[in-house]
Amino acid sequence: MAPPLLSKLPRVGTTIFTVMSSLATEYGAVNLGQGFPDFPMSEALVALVNRAMTSGFNQYTHMNGFPALREVLAEKVRSLYGAIVDPDSEITITPGGTYAIYTALTTVLQPGDEVIVFQPCYDSYIPNILVNGAIPVLIDLPFPDYQIDWEEVRRRITPRTRMIMLNSPNNPTGAVLRETDMQVLRSLVKDTPILILSDEVYEHLIFDGIPHQSVLRYPDLAERSLACYSFGKTYHCTGWKLGYCVSSAALMKEFRKVHQFNCFSCHTPSQVALAEFLADKDSYNTVGVFMQRKRDYFQQLMQQTKFTPLPSYGSYFQLYKYDRISDESDKELSIRITKEYGVACIPVSAFYIGEKDDKVVRFCFAKKEETLEKAVERLAKI
Ligand code: PMP
Ligand code: GLN
Repeated sequence: MAPPLLSKLPRVGTTIFTVMSSLATEYGAVNLGQGFPDFPMSEALVALVNRAMTSGFNQYTHMNGFPALREVLAEKVRSLYGAIVDPDSEITITPGGTYAIYTALTTVLQPGDEVIVFQPCYDSYIPNILVNGAIPVLIDLPFPDYQIDWEEVRRRITPRTRMIMLNSPNNPTGAVLRETDMQVLRSLVKDTPILILSDEVYEHLIFDGIPHQSVLRYPDLAERSLACYSFGKTYHCTGWKLGYCVSSAALMKEFRKVHQFNCFSCHTPSQVALAEFLADKDSYNTVGVFMQRKRDYFQQLMQQTKFTPLPSYGSYFQLYKYDRISDESDKELSIRITKEYGVACIPVSAFYIGEKDDKVVRFCFAKKEETLEKAVERLAKI
């Protein structure tokens, strides 16, 4: 028998995304739960990866990332956010956004440090804080607008506050930060040692012409931030698990100390391919409009159902209330409709620590039209 182990995460179970995707597979349900596209990624980008492999780019690349990719990313953040970022010392390619976030937290956090986290949040954040011996300070984003109450943030800052975690566009709510939020944040952290972790994996999936409020737009925030990104979200290839982190040179130096002995370097051919693909700015500038059409199509179809939408300004998710259907908990409802009606969604309570349940579920609309139609045909029967 294996010797007993003292769990580092005793209260953590299996992530809701795996739970709901497994249930969807078991019941043959249309999976609008876990966030991933079901349509093909760019054939041109796949061809570039193939070419990189046949051209011999099959060995370790630089531990900080393929140099030409870091250069094209520096140009991207300059053109989008006006940020002057040194590709040699301020960008590191990572195996996905989740890893970038974990590495950023592990780089920075000492036991007992406090991290302000807004709930609902992507489910990796809190375990990532806890595993580093730090303390999550939880602030609820009030239903149904999910806007940050900055007065509460001010009250909850203590001498032990080391970091504030942001996520815009937000998973699961689809809310986005506005310029006024960034201005308040700037004044709050000024003259403090507080760092920012900015999860911007949905930076390009933002709708209705709203500008993405990257921390990189603000030099005073950028120098104290670790901003995390994911190619998987932008290029419809979540299975590639490739992303990057942008930070100031001093923070990035420490980030790389952790990174080099965990992953060292990431998949070379896809980095070579992305370096060429990203040279065309349309490769990222057109994704928002494309995904906005999916949001609009899904929302229009959903009018046939008894679900009531909350607004989605970004990400590939939309929240729906189901008060006209039942008063079950969101977990009960999500499991029941997967099993009985064949459509999987995600209960929003899974993005909170504790028992919070505002009776809303999250649907992913990053799907082919026929998938959305099939799902809604089933949801309309409820
Ligand atoms: N942050 C959020 C909010 C996400 O939804 C995701 C998607 N999984 C990630 C980070 C990480 O993305 P990746 O698949 O690149 O690890
Ligand atoms: N980000 C995706 C979601 O929210 C899934 C990520 C995952 O499965 N870990 O659905």
